[in-house]
Amino acid sequence: MDLSYILNELGEEREQYFQAVAPPIMQSSNFTFKSVSDFRQALADEYNATLYSRGNNPTVDILRKKLAALDGAEDALVFGSGIAAIAIPILALLNQGDHVVSVAKPYSWTIKLFERLLPKFGITTTFVDGTKTENFAAAIQPTTRLIFLESPNTFTYELQDLKAVATLAKSKNILTMTDNSYCSPINQQPYKMGIDLVAQSATKFIGGHSDVVAGVVTGSKALIKKIFDAEFLNIGGNISPMNAWLLIRGLRTLPLRLQRVCASTKVIVDFLTHHPRIERVIFPFHPSFPQYELAKKQMRDAGGLFSIVLKAKSVEEVETFCNSLKHFFLAVSWGGHESLVIPSVVSFPRADFDASNQNHRLIRLYVGLEDPDYLIADLKQALEK
Ligand SMILES: *Cc1c(COP(=O)(O)O)cnc(C)c1O
Repeated sequence: MDLSYILNELGEEREQYFQAVAPPIMQSSNFTFKSVSDFRQALADEYNATLYSRGNNPTVDILRKKLAALDGAEDALVFGSGIAAIAIPILALLNQGDHVVSVAKPYSWTIKLFERLLPKFGITTTFVDGTKTENFAAAIQPTTRLIFLESPNTFTYELQDLKAVATLAKSKNILTMTDNSYCSPINQQPYKMGIDLVAQSATKFIGGHSDVVAGVVTGSKALIKKIFDAEFLNIGGNISPMNAWLLIRGLRTLPLRLQRVCASTKVIVDFLTHHPRIERVIFPFHPSFPQYELAKKQMRDAGGLFSIVLKAKSVEEVETFCNSLKHFFLAVSWGGHESLVIPSVVSFPRADFDASNQNHRLIRLYVGLEDPDYLIADLKQALEK
């Protein structure tokens, strides 16, 4: 399906709302029926009905159609956060006693899902180095029901060979799910590579304006219906119509924003690679990246997030650099219009800093929509401090 069609027309039945270009925000919790028999039918099959906005809502439906098409998948569900789009499908598809093989170092709350929440229900997880597909094969147990991936992750960017892992999983009748937040469907389409469920934090590139927290999962109609009929309705992690509307608006400019972010990132990565205060730049589309060939093979482009290892002898040097930046804000999240910085030292006590540990000198940068020269000038002055 044509990308322009998906973003500008798909799902938008304008004759139903005065030919308005922008869709209405259908701010209604419930929907009425003309007869008891229509009402009964909707209750019996809520997946195909407009009954109650914890399930379906017309504004959210427009968004679902677009997000499914962007991934080349059959259907999508939208949630109130990215982590809900990961946790709720996993809760829906796994049973007590099941085992998960997950790539090491996924998103922090995904780790907590596997390490703290799922064990309450007797579900265990083995984490493996995902740079080698053999490691997934070796970790599979008779009870393994899911392989969870995140390629690349959003701090050190290790990739998994998505096609190879999907083939392995299919041969053993194991489901696969990946977190595709880093790439968005513009830069990588895991469903087309054989991955069963594709999740992403819509808070990031889809929303793109740092004003919505939301998540999405896409997959086959059968899997999405299974999730909808049970845990989606039961846990109630749905998005509000207003936030769905903001995401539809975000989608209009998604390819344009990513183009800008990816182009700026490359210019900034080049600048930093040659800077004497930087030991290493970690970015999947840089030739120095250990999995550069795989990145080029399965991703269309990369950008936004990358990390640097500062040549710092003390925690003060790391902090001085970050505090001196004027246009990279110190904040979590990413994917919006504004550039951001997050040093790894925020996640442990200052006294634990060890200059010989590369990870302690790691700083993640996100490049937003600003002029790259404006950002480079800022990095330059902060590196000189
Ligand atoms: C932000 C993020 C999430 C979680 O999304 P929320 O919308 O914050 O719940 C999951 N995975 C990755 C890679 C993320 O960056």
